[in-house]
Amino acid sequence: MPAEKMLSIAFEKNPSPASAEQRNTILQNPGFGKKFTDHMLLIRYSEEKGWHDAHIKPYGNISLDPALCVFHYAQEIFEGLKAYKAKDGRILLFRPEANAKRFINSAKRMAMAPLPEEMFLQAIHEFVKVEKDWLPDQSVGTLYLRPFMIASTPYLGVKASPDYLFMLIASPAGSYFSKGAKPVTVWISEFYTRAASGGTGEAKCGGNYAASLIAQQEATQNNCDQLVFLDAAEHKWIEEMGGMNIFFVLDDGSLLTPPLGGTILPGVTRNSIITMAKEKGITVREELYAAEQWIKDIQSGKVREVFACGTAAVVSPIGFVKTKHGEYQINDGNPGKLTQEIHKALVDIQYGNAPDIHNWVQEVK
Ligand SMILES: *Cc1c(COP(=O)(O)O)cnc(C)c1O
Repeated sequence: MPAEKMLSIAFEKNPSPASAEQRNTILQNPGFGKKFTDHMLLIRYSEEKGWHDAHIKPYGNISLDPALCVFHYAQEIFEGLKAYKAKDGRILLFRPEANAKRFINSAKRMAMAPLPEEMFLQAIHEFVKVEKDWLPDQSVGTLYLRPFMIASTPYLGVKASPDYLFMLIASPAGSYFSKGAKPVTVWISEFYTRAASGGTGEAKCGGNYAASLIAQQEATQNNCDQLVFLDAAEHKWIEEMGGMNIFFVLDDGSLLTPPLGGTILPGVTRNSIITMAKEKGITVREELYAAEQWIKDIQSGKVREVFACGTAAVVSPIGFVKTKHGEYQINDGNPGKLTQEIHKALVDIQYGNAPDIHNWVQEVK
């Protein structure tokens, strides 16, 4: 790596970390997103100094000026990836460079300073090394990593901030899989949309999530676990879920997923599944698919399986769809065969249980 793209990351050790006993209790049953490791990583950016002041310090509150741009105009982006413990104890990352690249694209869309890919990867590797005792065993789950960046200039004028703060925190996470992949019920959001052409749909920014929460509430009120967004122009074409991409398995054995086109988040899981499916000889079509047609195809049996995918849940089978007009069961309502095969194939690579022919896996050492 070129030296100018590398940081020297200072380390201030937490003087009172969780005890081994406390940590092990958490690692037996981590849940999701509630418990955090002993440290956090910060890197600052300013126009004069560029990226500087990289350091790892004890996890804790940060003091911020209430005038920071991020609090008023939501200049914020994030990523989500995981560290996996292999059976032989090695610590693995799955395609972290894809997250680094997407973080750059999100930054550009939100007029923020892009963190160079090498620095992103260096931060992830060094931080995971420091927190290596926080990795759950693979029978339990993973260490979920949350890099994010905020506009950190105290200024109420409406313009791109000249200063940024990048941070990285980590949270042990139980796998949804360990409880058995229970099919979810999804609500089709006919009024609310997630992203419009020219908007921020392909950036991983907090604002997209803020805008999706009311639709998620509508789904919950209708006894659904998740929701499916349609396109903003016609309210017709299936786009994605609130935080996951969506795939359909058709009766000819092919896979169908909506095409990326600016309004859909380009998922690393989505891309990995497309790559692996094609290698298995499965036809994958990235094509527009109307919600109305989907319902018809469920009723006729043309749609055999449906699943959502993303880093957090990996692959999540969808068993039922609900709209204002009715509830529809996909096939027998149970996780489909191809859905389960794809899930297993992906998880096996991520945990180092299957050969990594794509060079997707990086070891933290
Ligand atoms: C993060 C995210 C996904 C999934 O992306 P992965 O890289 O597979 O985790 C899908 N949709 C949205 C809206 C997301 O924010």
